[in-house]
Amino acid sequence: LGSSLRGTLDKLRGKSRLSEEDIEEIVKEIQRSLLSADVDVSLVMELSDNIKERSLEEEPPAGTPARDFVLRIVYEELVDLIGESTELPLDEQTILLAGLQGSGKTTSAAKMAWWFSTKGLRPAVIQTDTFRPGAYDQAKEMCARAEVDFYGNPDNDDPVEIARKGLEETADADVHIVDTAGRHALEDDLIDEIEQIEGVVQPDTSLLVLDAAIGQGAKEQAQQFDESIGIEGVVITKLDGTAKGGGALTAVDQTDSSIAFLGTGEEVQDVERFEPDGFISRLLGMGDLGQLAERVERAMAETDIEEEDWDPEDMLQGQFTLNDMQKQMEAMNNMGPLDQVMDMIPGFGGGIKDQLPDDAMDVTQERMHSFSVIMDSMTDAEKEYPKAVGASQIERIARGSGTSEEQVRELLQQYKMMERTIKQFQGMGSDQEMQRMMK
Ligand code: GDP
Ligand code: MG
Repeated sequence: LGSSLRGTLDKLRGKSRLSEEDIEEIVKEIQRSLLSADVDVSLVMELSDNIKERSLEEEPPAGTPARDFVLRIVYEELVDLIGESTELPLDEQTILLAGLQGSGKTTSAAKMAWWFSTKGLRPAVIQTDTFRPGAYDQAKEMCARAEVDFYGNPDNDDPVEIARKGLEETADADVHIVDTAGRHALEDDLIDEIEQIEGVVQPDTSLLVLDAAIGQGAKEQAQQFDESIGIEGVVITKLDGTAKGGGALTAVDQTDSSIAFLGTGEEVQDVERFEPDGFISRLLGMGDLGQLAERVERAMAETDIEEEDWDPEDMLQGQFTLNDMQKQMEAMNNMGPLDQVMDMIPGFGGGIKDQLPDDAMDVTQERMHSFSVIMDSMTDAEKEYPKAVGASQIERIARGSGTSEEQVRELLQQYKMMERTIKQFQGMGSDQEMQRMMK
């Protein structure tokens, strides 16, 4: 579905002005993407009304493709809804986890503890689930894997008492994460229990843990837990599956909170602090929208920054990344082919450029276009270290950009070739031979 949005957008590439019909078409595709990602219908409608209204009213800055401008509006509206990640100090605090059985609370407790430990804090998990058999062992084992403190008591069946004792026993820790029991459905005794635990624990932050696959059910849960203990943030788990977690947005909206963490696997390290950019891009099945939004913003602040931003000489210093390659390709568009660009660099004219490997710098317009589409689907880290891009990432990038894995590999190949060439230049710079050649 993301690719049909991309298809629609690609058709509009190069247009400086979009018609009302164009905008209708984009909005329809965005609606389709969001609905298939389980975002609530009324939220989708509200969003698309805002997007339509702004796209028709606001003027794109000169030189900005209309398509990019509309995407920026889409991005802004989604950020507005989803918000920045839930604020969590890197300091002493107590966090309470709530949610139904199987949503991923225990796993998330251990993951979050692990995450805090990587920030130099000393976390402890307190397991108060006396309802589910094996809950104690599961939590204990995961905490051992995360190498964090753990308290639980399989012989006590009073969760409130365990919570009280747990805080005492783990007094040396800075961050206390209190895991609770869930049920198959919301029941009064579950709510009573968690309210009592909340009373004893007095958490700084209560987080609602939701499975990414949750759809309409998110609303009732969010409402209920928010009423009983107050929800400050949401943890979305199992994002490594096919579900995109759009249902959790209902919970965020309902509780007027934000997203704190994302769970992306079964291991304790499979956790990420929430960042709106990646999440939104994933919801829409598109590449890095945040980057695009930034680019449009820069264009709005000042036109033609791109060109000034990039000095060919910089390329010859330090690491050569895919971002450099993209800028280099853009520069070629503006300044002519690389060998001419090279002429602009003091000391690099003349014979040196003849040593360029054949077609190392041959980037036709067509390839440039497909490369930039592919790069829109790559993360910053991937562009900084293209060598670390493996098969599964290639598959994802191809899917996200609506291209083939072969095309992605071709881009990486091109990068490697250019990188080698640049390295050669860098080598010469520090070489005596260089001096000779300059004469
Ligand atoms: P709880 O009942 O809310 O405590 O849920 P658990 O933490 O026990 O998780 C329920 C199941 O979901 C377990 O099998 C976990 O391994 C699995 N799980 C939790 N988080 C994730 C995740 O982010 N990805 C995947 N693939 N599985 C998860
Ligand atoms: Mg559990």
